[in-house]
Amino acid sequence: MKDIRKINNEEIIRFMEEVGEKKFKAKQLNEWLWKKGVHSFNEMLNLSLELRQKLTSNFLLEHLSISDKFESRDGTIKFLFSLPDKQFIEGVLIPADKRVTACISSQVGCPLNCSFCATGQGGFSRNLHFTEIYDQFLLMNKESIETYQREISNIVFMGMGEPLLNYEQVLQAIELLTSTQGQGWSPSRITLSTVGIVEKIRQLADDHVKVGLAVSLHVADPEKRLRLMPVTASNPLPELQKALQYYASETGNRVSIEYLLLDEINNSIQDADNLLRFCKVFPVKINLIEYNSTDARFRKSPPQKTSVFMEYLEQKNLIVTMRQSRGDDIAAACGQLAAKRVRMNIK
Ligand code: SF4
Repeated sequence: MKDIRKINNEEIIRFMEEVGEKKFKAKQLNEWLWKKGVHSFNEMLNLSLELRQKLTSNFLLEHLSISDKFESRDGTIKFLFSLPDKQFIEGVLIPADKRVTACISSQVGCPLNCSFCATGQGGFSRNLHFTEIYDQFLLMNKESIETYQREISNIVFMGMGEPLLNYEQVLQAIELLTSTQGQGWSPSRITLSTVGIVEKIRQLADDHVKVGLAVSLHVADPEKRLRLMPVTASNPLPELQKALQYYASETGNRVSIEYLLLDEINNSIQDADNLLRFCKVFPVKINLIEYNSTDARFRKSPPQKTSVFMEYLEQKNLIVTMRQSRGDDIAAACGQLAAKRVRMNIK
């Protein structure tokens, strides 16, 4: 049997006609599937019992479920989602003032093997289907309302995986989030975070994708970056810089540069100068991030060095923010929970 959310609208309309139902039933069905995100045909109360039974005997309605959840002292909640094929991905809800940000995954694992990332160490399994990406939003939004009495206000694609390596499915999920068929969100509330897949950054500009773009740069020296992030070999920094310049000029968007501060690796004045040179050709905002320690090879940048680094960039007129690490006590950095689950072989 096919999953009803993996067939197109024409097929749904054809099914309605074949079973003697009116065409507008397809619209009602779509509302249950995409706006309300129910998990069974029996919850679709404005459809007759007979139609619900026909749907149940002809289609599957697969969905993600929350396998585990961990709440931090700071209010951050990390979710371990179980997929229909029994694999795991992670999502995080981060409350702050009036906002609740959901961090969602785009792949099961990640093929890019960044040395500081728990997901990268765990290897790659597969791309997520757009329904699996969208379901993370639906499930976490429900939790956000129950826990914080607020809906999710922002989404960042910063969970497991590199979203631009799953371009089509990620864009379909964004289409659902922003279209009236789904949530009707403004694209400005969504941020795609990439390590810098040059070809796909150019495609985002050519496709006029309106969401925000964040680049996890972390180091602006080519050799150091290659050691930390092997993806640099096929996406060299000069090419990435040109692609970001092109993206900014085509979209008019400012690029966010994410920079994880690691002591003795990327927090010197020389590193700040490299960063400055990399960013000078496009409008930019720098987000410095505290390291959420998981690996003995890396250390958090001490506060004094962090201040010097930040002030140096500010003196050169860059917009710089410092992002505190959230959810340290619940292993909220990307990939830590799913990696644990795999190691413990809990299914
Ligand atoms: S940091 Fe992102 S791109 Fe790098 S391995 Fe982790 S999930 Fe993949």
